[in-house]
Amino acid sequence: MKIQDRLDLQYKRYENEYNEAVIRALKSGNYILGEEVNKFEVNYAKHMESKYCVGLNNGLDALVLSLRVLGIKKGDEVIVQTNTFIATVMAITENGATPVFVEPDIYHNINVDEIECKITKNTKAIIVVHLYGQASNMGRIMEITNKHKLFLIEDCAQAHDATYEGKKIGTFGDVGCFSFYPTKNLGAFGDSGAIITDNQEIYEKMRMIRNYGSKEKYHNELNGVNSRLDELQAALLNVKLRHLTELTKERQRYAKIYDSGIKNSLIELPKVYDGTTHVYHLYVITCENRDKLQNYLLSKGIKTQIHYPIPPHLQKCYVGLGFKAGDFPVAEKYAKSVLSLPLFNGMTDEEINYVVKHVNKFSL
Ligand SMILES: *Cc1c(COP(=O)(O)O)cnc(C)c1O
Repeated sequence: MKIQDRLDLQYKRYENEYNEAVIRALKSGNYILGEEVNKFEVNYAKHMESKYCVGLNNGLDALVLSLRVLGIKKGDEVIVQTNTFIATVMAITENGATPVFVEPDIYHNINVDEIECKITKNTKAIIVVHLYGQASNMGRIMEITNKHKLFLIEDCAQAHDATYEGKKIGTFGDVGCFSFYPTKNLGAFGDSGAIITDNQEIYEKMRMIRNYGSKEKYHNELNGVNSRLDELQAALLNVKLRHLTELTKERQRYAKIYDSGIKNSLIELPKVYDGTTHVYHLYVITCENRDKLQNYLLSKGIKTQIHYPIPPHLQKCYVGLGFKAGDFPVAEKYAKSVLSLPLFNGMTDEEINYVVKHVNKFSL
């Protein structure tokens, strides 16, 4: 058996609906910021229980432009967890600001007990990442941001529809940032992203910045960029959004099978905090002999992935920040021990059980 993420299954599942949506968009003659984008922004804001949504080109732009709208610039410090995808950190450095790293907790989200000691007079914001699809400890994070009057940006790229105490992630902070990269839980068929916010001023500024800083064509009030959500992607996202709840439930069902089926003392399963929901963008186990496990599974036809093999503070692009191996031991340990098992919509029970069987058979 060969098991790996298959994005074509995403298309096939609702093929007729996607075809119809694309043809409608193609026939409309309106290819930039047309009806489909409008519709998606309204639908997504509603779905996320937020006031506003602005469709953008990708998830990185959502983060970069959110910091920009909040006025974060050179000399400012932004707190972020050490084990995130590089985009979260690049959003900070792209604005000329300095990332201040905080180690992850046992849930792989930011360790809330280590945030306050990193706050200085230059700290302007915290970016919280709901990593792998699990909501972060928003109760404690909201206390800290309120007490220290910091902006809060949520990186929700992996966690569409995850909740903390019943409230959707993305609605806690000043801005919630989403990616619709094809593999994400709400994946498009190309690049795209969005922000959600309840703040009208942020909303209006973001709408201008994504379109050359203009409300009215050729009247440029702000220094903007071109980061418009594509009309065809919006048409496709309107279809997928209708099915997101079902797709998420399916991921959660697969995760349950892994949770109850995997029994191997060499492997630790993902932990979920009380009061949060995990939407399992990734099912990440830890194993001290990770590389050996990965090779063993590959020999059985099971393709796994590592999220992420090198933490941002040790990436070549950030040599200038002056960190070295050993500075963030928790994140560095995770980089050596995490492994994402196959989990994608359209997987069969036979496939899941095959993975369970071989994970259980692994020995040293
Ligand atoms: C995917 C991802 C992003 C970036 O999204 P793109 O659409 O690929 O730019 C940002 N943060 C996290 C945590 C992600 O997983």
